[in-house]
Amino acid sequence: MNVVFLGPPGAGKGTQAETICREKGMEHVSTGNELREAVQAGTAVGLKAKEYMEKGLLVPDDVVVDIVADCMTKGDHNSSFLLDGFPRNLAQAKALDGTLKKLEYKLDNVFYFAVSEETAVKRLTGRWTCPSCGGNYHELYMQPKRPGVCDKCDKPIEQRSDDNVETVKKRLKVYREQTADLIEYYKERGVLNTVDADKGVDDMHDEITAVLETAAGS
Ligand SMILES: [Zn+2]
Repeated sequence: MNVVFLGPPGAGKGTQAETICREKGMEHVSTGNELREAVQAGTAVGLKAKEYMEKGLLVPDDVVVDIVADCMTKGDHNSSFLLDGFPRNLAQAKALDGTLKKLEYKLDNVFYFAVSEETAVKRLTGRWTCPSCGGNYHELYMQPKRPGVCDKCDKPIEQRSDDNVETVKKRLKVYREQTADLIEYYKERGVLNTVDADKGVDDMHDEITAVLETAAGS
């Protein structure tokens, strides 16, 4: 079973993705992490991505799609994938469809995390991140075991400097504008599920699990 999680920053999809992947034995494909790994490993697409990142430019769609495809082909063919925060726009979605078809994979479910501005702001303004391993923490929801230190790799964590209220609101607006046609695209294909992302972590988890279990049983 292959699944996509879509949603703006602050919708809580990263947290859900980690739990669902652990429980269901799915491969968690987060483009941020995959990009970082490809760059560090110096793969062909990684080097291409690095050129853009060093210039402070966004990595183009086709390079991101190549990195995701690499990731999906390196495991065994029976793996299930959860694509976290990818695709980000209609062009990436169409490119992803091409890749899935070539690999003879199917996209079973897309979950869109619909979040209010108020909730997103509350979640985003307390985030900490580990620059070494990409681990995520939060002052309210996910505190590290020791203050200021990453649970996974023992390195110091940093507060995200771009997480102030105005920036968060702007990012939400941009996200909604950029993804409106993407949401519509998946809705038309009958794979879209909307998750109420203002709910708590456990309620969201139950909602997603119910859909996945129905899909697995059908
Ligand atoms: Zn770490």
